[in-house]
Amino acid sequence: MTAPAVAPVDHSPFREPSPSPAQDTPRPSSVFTEFARTHIAPRAEAAYRAEILDRLSWQRLADLGLWRTGVPERLGGTGGTWRDLAERIADVARAADDLGFVLSLIAHAGLVRALVEHGNAYHHTTVLPPLLQGAVGATALTEPHGGSDVARTRTTGERTADGWRLSGTKDHITNAPVADRALVLGRVPELGRRDITLFLVNLHSPGVRRGRPEELLGLRTSPTGALHLDGVLLHRDAVLGLPGEGLRTLYDVISFDRALYGLVIAAFLEPQLERTVAFARRREAFGTPILDHQYVQGRITDIRVTVEVARATALAGIDALVARDAEASLRCSVAKLVGSEGLVEAAQNLMCIQGHAGFMRGPLTRIVQDALGTLIAGGTSEMQRKNILNQMLAHHTD
Ligand SMILES: Cc1cc2nc3c(=O)[nH]c(=O)nc-3n(C[C@H](O)[C@H](O)[C@H](O)COP(=O)(O)OP(=O)(O)OC[C@H]3O[C@@H](n4cnc5c(N)ncnc54)[C@H](O)[C@@H]3O)c2cc1C
Repeated sequence: MTAPAVAPVDHSPFREPSPSPAQDTPRPSSVFTEFARTHIAPRAEAAYRAEILDRLSWQRLADLGLWRTGVPERLGGTGGTWRDLAERIADVARAADDLGFVLSLIAHAGLVRALVEHGNAYHHTTVLPPLLQGAVGATALTEPHGGSDVARTRTTGERTADGWRLSGTKDHITNAPVADRALVLGRVPELGRRDITLFLVNLHSPGVRRGRPEELLGLRTSPTGALHLDGVLLHRDAVLGLPGEGLRTLYDVISFDRALYGLVIAAFLEPQLERTVAFARRREAFGTPILDHQYVQGRITDIRVTVEVARATALAGIDALVARDAEASLRCSVAKLVGSEGLVEAAQNLMCIQGHAGFMRGPLTRIVQDALGTLIAGGTSEMQRKNILNQMLAHHTD
C-alpha cells in the first residue's frame, strides 16, 4: 500500500456537535426547510433555465404562512418577531438550492415589514393582506441614471384633488416583471428641499408598464426589470410614512433587507459546505483524500468562517433594528457586506475544491454567477462601506 504523502489529520472539527455562539438557538428542520427541500430545490434548475420565478412554490410558501410570521395578529399575522420571519426565510434558503428565489423573498419581506412598521390603516387593510396571501411585492429605488445615490430620484409625485399622481421610471427592480405591489421612491417638488417620499403602488393600475425581464449573469430565478409609471393615480393615503420623510423610512426598510442578505447567505452556504467536505473526503490526490491537504482545509475553513460571521452579524443587525438601536443601519450594512463578499469568495472556493468539475456549467458555476449579483443588489459593497463609516462617525463622540 502506498503511504500517504501527508499524515492523516483529525477531521473532528467538521463533526463538532456543540453549537457555536452564532447558532445560539437550536434550529430544528422547519416546515419551510422541508418544503424547500422537497418542492423548491427540485424545480430550481428548470426555473433557472426558463429564467422565471417559481410562482407555484411562492404561493405554497404563502399558504404555509411564511408571510404571516412576524406580522401582528391584529393585522392578519401569526405574531412573533422580525427575527422569526428572517429565520424562516433562512430555513428556505438552507434547502432551496436557489439563491435567486430567496432574493425575491427578501424583496418581498422588506415590503411586508415596511407596511407593518410604517403603514397606515389604508396600507394595513388594503395593501398588506394580499401580500400575506401570495401576491408579490417589490421595492423600486433604482432609476436609469443610477441606483447608489437614491436621493437623486427623478420619479415625481404631485397631489391631485383626492390623492396623488406618480410618474417616473425605475430600473433593475427585483420581482418587477411579476410583482403586484411596489414601494416606489420618488419626490414631491412642492415640499421644497426635503421632498423624498415613498409611495405604495398597485402595479395593475392604469399607467403602469413593465419592461421586459432583464437578462442577467446570475440570479435568473429572480426576475428583474423596469417599471414605467405614467401619471399613475394613487389613493390619498398611498404615502408610506410622511411626505418628505422618505429617506429616513427607506433606511429602516432597506436595513432589514441588508441583514437578510447576511442571514440567507449563511444558510445557503451550510449545505454547500457539507457537500464540499463530503467531496473532499472522497476525492483523492497524492494518495490521500484532498481533505488532508492544508490548502483545501483552508478553503473549507474560510467558508465556515463566512457562515459564522454572516449569520452572527445578520442577527445582530436584526436585533438592533427591532430594538431601534441607533447603530442598526451600520450593523445591517456590515451583515450585507460580509455576507455578499464572503459568498463570492466561498463560491470560488466551492468551485476550486472540485477542480475542473467545478468549472463545468452546473450547480457550482451557478453559485459563482449568483454570488456576483449579491455584490450589487441591495446596494453595492462600496455603499455598504460608505454607510458603515458615515454611521460610525455620526455616532462617534470624542
Ligand atoms: C440582481 C439585482 C437585483 C436588484 N434589485 C433591485 C431592486 O429590487 N430595487 C432597486 O431599487 N434596485 C435593485 N437593483 C439595482 C441595484 O440596487 C443598483 O444596481 C445598485 O444600487 C447600484 O446602482 P447602479 O447600478 O446604478 O450603479 P451606480 O450607482 O451608477 O454606481 C456605479 C459604481 O459606482 C460606485 N459608486 C457610486 N457612488 C459611489 C461612492 N459615493 N463611493 C464609492 N463608490 C461609488 C458603485 O458602488 C458602483 O460600483 C438590483 C440590482 C441587481 C444586480
